[in-house]
Amino acid sequence: MRRIAIVGAGQAGLQTAIGLLKNGGYEVTVFSNRTPEQIRTGKVMSSQCMFDMALQNEREIGINYWDDSCPPVQGLGVTVPNPEVPGEKLFTWAGRLTHEAQAVDQRIKMPRLIEEVEKLGGKFVIEDVGVPEMEQMTLEYDLVLVAAGKGDIVKTFERDASRSPFDAPQRALALTYVKGMVPSTPFSKVSFNLIPGVGEYFVFPSETINGYCEIMVFEGIPGGPMDCWADVKTPEEHLEKSLWILKTFLPWEYERCLNVTLTDDNGILAGRFAPTVRKPVATLPNGGKVFGVADVVVVNDPITGQGSNNASKCSKVYLDEIIARGDEAYTEEWMNATFEKYYDYAQTVTNWTNSMLTPPPPHILDLMGAASQAQSLADLIANNFSDPSKFTPWWFDAGLTEEVIATHVSKVMS
Ligand SMILES: Cc1cc2nc3c(=O)[nH]c(=O)nc-3n(C[C@H](O)[C@H](O)[C@H](O)COP(=O)(O)OP(=O)(O)OC[C@H]3O[C@@H](n4cnc5c(N)ncnc54)[C@H](O)[C@@H]3O)c2cc1C
Repeated sequence: MRRIAIVGAGQAGLQTAIGLLKNGGYEVTVFSNRTPEQIRTGKVMSSQCMFDMALQNEREIGINYWDDSCPPVQGLGVTVPNPEVPGEKLFTWAGRLTHEAQAVDQRIKMPRLIEEVEKLGGKFVIEDVGVPEMEQMTLEYDLVLVAAGKGDIVKTFERDASRSPFDAPQRALALTYVKGMVPSTPFSKVSFNLIPGVGEYFVFPSETINGYCEIMVFEGIPGGPMDCWADVKTPEEHLEKSLWILKTFLPWEYERCLNVTLTDDNGILAGRFAPTVRKPVATLPNGGKVFGVADVVVVNDPITGQGSNNASKCSKVYLDEIIARGDEAYTEEWMNATFEKYYDYAQTVTNWTNSMLTPPPPHILDLMGAASQAQSLADLIANNFSDPSKFTPWWFDAGLTEEVIATHVSKVMS
């Protein structure tokens, strides 16, 4: 039996643990700094909307427990307010997803997955892991995976400046989980609103600790009017501030919210972090090597809602490579090669996500406008959220983007 330690009981850590245990041949221990009860009754950390490609990885290892209960996300739409006429839309469109997305509150999901780890014979240990604990693990285990998300421990991994164009947070983030919102029609969707110079707001349905809800995500440009959470002290004030943003910039979204209430006092979050790519292997003072997973190695701004999707995809790549390694040692060379296999995909997501954090070039504005005239283009953009590598290379090239636009718009004209 090969012994594997996993630090962090989030999307990547638990999916990997369950994949290994179901494969057989691995003794797996998951270390978490929060108990299942603390996760369940704690604050929300994410909006965690996952698209089909990532959900497929969960289906493969049989952890798709919420397919029947979680409200489906059937599409993705974009609206841009008219900067000249307050309260009016410049354009709006909605693409239909071929396969539905879903957002299961991590407060429900992770405790259930921890239960599964234990059921499959894995060990679950409560420990706030630091460098000394990791050193000990490198002596006791064949492989130490660090899937600790945005925890302090990730600082053990060196930032890769060549792959990290930003050294400061690019958005002031906030989440507000609510009940009582008027659902989007004619199908459920991620309703994405881009407010030039101010930030972004998106909202979609989810299953939370007390049933159906909608999750509001606010992405304020630092120093702008949506960077407004510093003085908010209570859950009530947080909801009030959320509604103020909608009333001020997005009246059509505010209209959906006339009767909303918070799901619970912990259904809120405000914070910020810098998008960062890190070197995948950290060398500890005792010389031991630990291997970073998912957010530890590639953390993107949530503007494109890809973090949990990436965590699932990273977990899948690592799982396949661990299994393929058989009885051979998990060397530093193997860790680097395994990460590069994941990064080959992840860099396309990172580059695309980073491109959304700076003012859009004219060809992207053209693209967004054209999608309101060609349904097939709207559908294409929406479906690429499942596999954003499909935006490469054309998204980054004005000529290629205009060709994509022309193909779809000419179909409408003919
Ligand atoms: C505002 C916001 C909105 C988002 N919306 C979306 C979205 O719609 N779609 C999407 O795909 N992604 C979204 N994300 C990103 C997504 O939530 C993360 O990328 C994803 O959860 C990362 O998974 P992970 O397994 O790497 O880490 P996490 O899910 O963060 O799990 C890490 C775990 O490690 C534990 N831990 C940390 N430090 C230690 C330690 N020292 N010892 C032991 N345990 C430790 C933590 O308690 C945690 O349980 C959003 C993020 C934010 C901030």
